[in-house]
Amino acid sequence: MPLRSIISDMDGVIYRGKQPVPGAREFVHSLIESKTPFLFLTNNSEQTPLDLKRKLDAMGIDRLTEDNFITSAMATAAFLHSQKPGGTAYVVGGGGLINELYKCGFSLSESNPDYVVVGKTKSLNFDMLKKSISLIMNGAKFIGTNPDVIDPSENGFEPACGSILASIEIATGKKPYIIGKPNSLMMTIAVKQLDVLAGETLMIGDRMDTDIVCGLEAGMKTCLVLSGVSTVETLNDFPYKPDYVFNSVADIDWDALRSA
Ligand SMILES: [Mg+2]
Repeated sequence: MPLRSIISDMDGVIYRGKQPVPGAREFVHSLIESKTPFLFLTNNSEQTPLDLKRKLDAMGIDRLTEDNFITSAMATAAFLHSQKPGGTAYVVGGGGLINELYKCGFSLSESNPDYVVVGKTKSLNFDMLKKSISLIMNGAKFIGTNPDVIDPSENGFEPACGSILASIEIATGKKPYIIGKPNSLMMTIAVKQLDVLAGETLMIGDRMDTDIVCGLEAGMKTCLVLSGVSTVETLNDFPYKPDYVFNSVADIDWDALRSA
């Protein structure tokens, strides 16, 4: 099956921190000009597609629209909608997550909700943990947007969704079901949103243990770029390999890959 579409990670692929990866702008423009169906994907559940579009615009990676992004908040909302249309949730998370749940027809509730949904939020407090724990002990199902435990920040590090999930898991003895990478469900939902087939889609990422493994498990073709956390040596540490390895997106000849 020839390649037709692209799903790509962002951090370490098209930017690093606040700096664009050289050639990323041209790569994005070539996808737009060739009318390639594509999505940029992130495990971050705090930001909306509009936030992401503005962030990339500010780096000079322009011409993207909100439709070019999928976040773990969007995937979580789509998954919960498929499980229980019109369900209720108590949410520990940011505006991005709450927004997506509303859009899928969920309502927020603190009394007997179907789900406790947890994403990263800087407004986390003791009362939110207390409520989450009580609701889960009373039977609410426990959902996490993504497993990342720590994120880089301006002056060091900060706890991410996985750290909040861990504290609730320890208190309740219940394990969350986590939607974001490396769960291949995130890829399956992305492929559906793009209305393409997994087998004709290339997953581009900089991490073997998230991007590449979940692209592989979803039945996609995979491409590791070495512009983020991985080096050529990293490949030896894993029992699986990507279909392609490039130094960065600047080295991807998409026209050649599509007609291969
Ligand atoms: Mg990355």
